Amino acid sequence: MNELDAFRAETRAWLEANCPASMRTPMPSDEMVWGGSTVQFNSEDQRLWFERMREKGWFCPDWPTEYGGAGLDVRRQAILDQEMRRLHCRPPQINLGIWMLGPVLLEYASEEQKQRFLPPMARGEVRWCQGFSEPNAGSDLASLRTSAVLDGDHYVINGTKIWTSYGNKSDWMYALVRTGPMVPKQQGISLIVLDMHSPGVSVSPIDLISGKSSFCQVFFDNVRVPADQLIGEVNDGWKLGKALLQHERRAMSRFSESALPTHFDLDEYLTRCLPSPEGAAELALQQRAIRCLMDEECYSLGNRRMVDAVSARQDVSGLMAISKLVHTEQERDKFELLLELLGNAALGWDGDGFAARDLELTNSWLMSFAQTIAGGSSEVQLNVIAKRVLGLPDAK
Ligand SMILES: Cc1cc2nc3c(=O)[nH]c(=O)nc-3n(C[C@H](O)[C@H](O)[C@H](O)COP(=O)(O)OP(=O)(O)OC[C@H]3O[C@@H](n4cnc5c(N)ncnc54)[C@H](O)[C@@H]3O)c2cc1C
Repeated sequence: MNELDAFRAETRAWLEANCPASMRTPMPSDEMVWGGSTVQFNSEDQRLWFERMREKGWFCPDWPTEYGGAGLDVRRQAILDQEMRRLHCRPPQINLGIWMLGPVLLEYASEEQKQRFLPPMARGEVRWCQGFSEPNAGSDLASLRTSAVLDGDHYVINGTKIWTSYGNKSDWMYALVRTGPMVPKQQGISLIVLDMHSPGVSVSPIDLISGKSSFCQVFFDNVRVPADQLIGEVNDGWKLGKALLQHERRAMSRFSESALPTHFDLDEYLTRCLPSPEGAAELALQQRAIRCLMDEECYSLGNRRMVDAVSARQDVSGLMAISKLVHTEQERDKFELLLELLGNAALGWDGDGFAARDLELTNSWLMSFAQTIAGGSSEVQLNVIAKRVLGLPDAK
């Protein structure tokens, strides 16, 4: 048995012994565990699963052990993902800090900042939100205007961020701010981290079509942030922000499969809804179902290529954009099909007469549209692919 096979066997045995049976079931969105200072568990099994994974350093398996990770290389991490998927293990927690900010800190932060921010993140003690988008700076992120002006040993921040997911429940924010107003727009941006409880920060939730309110608008009114919370060099935030978005695409593209928040198995619905297909409509549905299953398989094979590229330390920014685009578009198509398969049962929104799982499906269908926008819309991913993968020139 080679070393990787041994690691697989060990990982499989550990997961089988330590992942409670109830944590191997599809996860309704209201049972997600979000890390942070106010972490909450719906059950003892959730708490156990969270604590056991934390002790292994498997919240962030690829981080160095000195910052709270498990020091796994990309192939071992892929094995861990595969084994968790095989057992249908739920992610033990959802944590934007670990998915997005952590890898950027590892690459660009000072040693002091790494020591300060990474271990608590790795233990799931801090809930992070992302302060990038602004009312006039979404796809055109470089137009952001929230200002950070140095005053002694603090930056004074004024402005607003929008579409901040769970800004009202987060402990800290990583934000892009304008520190150089007089230079070309990409060159005057910095990345800063701030405590959401700082005086002058106010958060206003925005309702979503799905009836949930994860979106917030965040306002900064003379918020004083210690200057040593600026990450990397002053005015170098565009580079760091782009790196961070790449990690966001990686998380959203399901490259790390254990990060999957919910899972609807197409096979399960096909068995349930197409018992004896007859007629043209059913045939068309079957063809679409086969297409979806083939797409999922192709996507999964493509991800293997990405693991190879990452372990060979190749630039995967183009592949990440492809993966984010393909995965979110495929998921939306899959949810459209699931809804059609389910018929009237999928039209429920709330209340009696509908199974909880079907209500969850309707909700996830709506969310699947949002995912094609979050982290950069599909059109923006196509622009990235045109430039970075195909090498096409900018449109005149
Ligand atoms: C579920 C969800 C969660 C989010 N969470 C966060 C968060 O936590 N923090 C945060 O900072 N932001 C967050 N966002 C915001 C997200 O990053 C922006 O919505 C996204 O970047 C698009 O920006 P916009 O909404 O301003 O749309 P716009 O940029 O105004 O775009 C509108 C439309 O024009 C198209 N378009 C724009 N420019 C081009 C172009 N150059 N070429 C072709 N088409 C173009 C877009 O594709 C889109 O269809 C979230 C969004 C969603 C949906």
